[in-house]
Amino acid sequence: MTKIRTAAVIGSGVMGSGIAAHLANVGIPVLLLDMVPLQLLPQEAAAGLSLEHPRVRNRLAVSAIDKLIKTNPAPLYREDFAERITPGNLEDDLAKLSGVDWIIEVIVENLQAKQQLLSRIEAVWKPGTIVSSNTSGISINAMVEQSSTEFKKHFLGTHFFNPPRYMKLLEVIPNQQTDPAIVAFMSDFCEKNLGKGVVKAKDTPNFIGNRIGTYGLLVTLREMLAGGYSVEEVDAVTGPAMGRPKSATFRTLDLVGLDTFVHVAGNVFDLVTDPEEKAIFDPPVILKTMVANGWIGEKTGQGFYKKV
Ligand code: NAD
Repeated sequence: MTKIRTAAVIGSGVMGSGIAAHLANVGIPVLLLDMVPLQLLPQEAAAGLSLEHPRVRNRLAVSAIDKLIKTNPAPLYREDFAERITPGNLEDDLAKLSGVDWIIEVIVENLQAKQQLLSRIEAVWKPGTIVSSNTSGISINAMVEQSSTEFKKHFLGTHFFNPPRYMKLLEVIPNQQTDPAIVAFMSDFCEKNLGKGVVKAKDTPNFIGNRIGTYGLLVTLREMLAGGYSVEEVDAVTGPAMGRPKSATFRTLDLVGLDTFVHVAGNVFDLVTDPEEKAIFDPPVILKTMVANGWIGEKTGQGFYKKV
């Protein structure tokens, strides 16, 4: 019988760190893996640490955990949640994936990157282990088109929303060959053990939540530009005044990450053929320029708002 006692989260960014914290908080030990950083930070070099040092090689995951502890998500999280998260990196710790019950892919929103990672996972995959992706809207079928039937049976989308600790919604997206028993098990597990409200979605571009959500954000941005409104004015109307304390339009975009948002809009842009729909999902130049400048939101301290 399938059981989830341990998990691995791959990608320790905005969502990976949040998902790892959520799992750890309900008592599941989590291995949090990212890539080996390409170079040393000045303070690490000054401390005489080399790229071979485990803390340096695990730096992305280590700093994600440090940030989770600092942002102190109490009272929602237990004080000791971070003790159940073990940081690591894909180069050194790939083989450890064969020792967990659930592997969640949470890396950059790019089909090729996800396919490459999934084939590395499959190489060490222990049959029976559930593997899922947190993609915002890349095709679940396309991600595993090169995989074995047995792997496909155990693979599905489990799409958490941001931030995972507050957002109850979770989309479950099977591929054409996902074992229905795994879909039923994961839906039940995410509801009962993770406190989520599960919606089963078809494998259409951006599924349900982001097909509608991305549309809404893009239309709002265009109307703001056309109407000459300010970011603050739109957020005042779409945030607290509407009973949404934090999640106003542009604050949401900064939280999501504008780089990720442009990728997610691109998921639909690339796959739809209707010219009107294509025009909607083509991100406005202002968004692309902000991303090119590194103004991608809370991750860099500068997006529509600047962190002071
Ligand atoms: P992010 O940019 O904050 O983090 C991505 C992480 O993946 C980084 O730590 C990066 O080092 C790592 N990474 C990138 N390429 C990698 C590779 N080839 N191998 C291993 N690690 C790699 O992104 P995010 O916002 O956490 O998004 C991750 C996934 O979750 C995406 O698929 C995204 O669409 C989805 N998602 C994002 C949000 C959101 O609001 N940001 C919400 C739901 C789903």
